Amino acid sequence: MSRVLERVPGQPAAIAFLTQAAERPHHAYVLAGPEGSGKSIAARAFVAALVCDRGADGAEDAERGEQGERGERVEHGCGECRSCRLALEERHPNVFVVEPEGRDIHVNTVRDEVWHPAFLTAPEPGRKVFVIREADRLSPAAADTLLKVLEEPPADAVILLLSARAHELPETVLSRCHVVQFTSLSESFVVQVLTDEGVDAVRARLAARLSGGNLGRARRTAAGDDGLRFREVARQAVDAAAEAAPGALLAAEVVLGAAAEYKKRLKVELDREIAPFLDEGGRPQDAYRGAVKRIETRFRRRERRAERDYIDWVLLGMSSLLRDRVAAAVGGDETVWMNPDITPDGAFSIDRSVRALASVENARAALAEDLNLNARLVLERAFLELSERV
Ligand SMILES: [Zn+2]
Repeated sequence: MSRVLERVPGQPAAIAFLTQAAERPHHAYVLAGPEGSGKSIAARAFVAALVCDRGADGAEDAERGEQGERGERVEHGCGECRSCRLALEERHPNVFVVEPEGRDIHVNTVRDEVWHPAFLTAPEPGRKVFVIREADRLSPAAADTLLKVLEEPPADAVILLLSARAHELPETVLSRCHVVQFTSLSESFVVQVLTDEGVDAVRARLAARLSGGNLGRARRTAAGDDGLRFREVARQAVDAAAEAAPGALLAAEVVLGAAAEYKKRLKVELDREIAPFLDEGGRPQDAYRGAVKRIETRFRRRERRAERDYIDWVLLGMSSLLRDRVAAAVGGDETVWMNPDITPDGAFSIDRSVRALASVENARAALAEDLNLNARLVLERAFLELSERV
């Protein structure tokens, strides 16, 4: 029984497995499955189940005065205790999260944030949990270092690897982990989840469609004002790029400006995340110095990636608008449009729209492939091509 795991939608087999695993965890798991299938949400819930105050063993429960009624089944992951809440927000001091910096996960990161802490006492009583996101991006040296931990796993540590390309993980690593398979979510399922969460039906369908079955992205799109801002930027960019070369350069400016704004908004979150670990003077309390530093480091990384993520989001929006022009030109109506709420501009030939679409998709692929590329140059080039084509 685990309340946090029960709430993870759409993956009954994987969740049943993890619910059982939470009671007597093995030392390492790979959560494998496509982008947006719910691996991150499931990982957070599983981590909560592993560190939950109420799921700790009897002695610890008694000490903390949290033991349930006699005979009540111990619950791993109540979702309400302090540990659960911190784990769900990814800032529990015993939970170490590793993700790529740039293209790879470097050996130093694995050494400092997995290997060393794995063999040290946990910051708080209870288990240590290591979450490695996009684990297929471990450099060979980083994978070797991880292997040292997997070969002699400390008794109080659990390691989770998340990957959309688990087959790219080294066999030596894979063979030491239990693989938990996630499957991709259908559009209708995503719509259902969003409407169950209180999103209205039209917006839910729009969000599901624009996110390509990626539940996390669909949620962000469906939420608040920010969600659809990226599409408004995409629309402005497509319109601007239609105005020949000066328009193309303006379009790049619009996209980069919006991405910078997005990054700025993210900064506000950091203060909120570390506030509980600071003393009255605003300095980290001794016991939490490490945790605060880790949250900050992770945050800087997220910040560095934020602009790229946002640009990708806008390009995806542009690509959906151009796709709708093609669909409309061949007689499709709003039931097949990706943006059922926007009537595509009919003034463009299929041929031109298809070529414009290709320019946008090439830019997306280039930016995803090489994180060191200058985003401005890539966008300007793509939009100049587009201005000749729309
Ligand atoms: Zn709990």
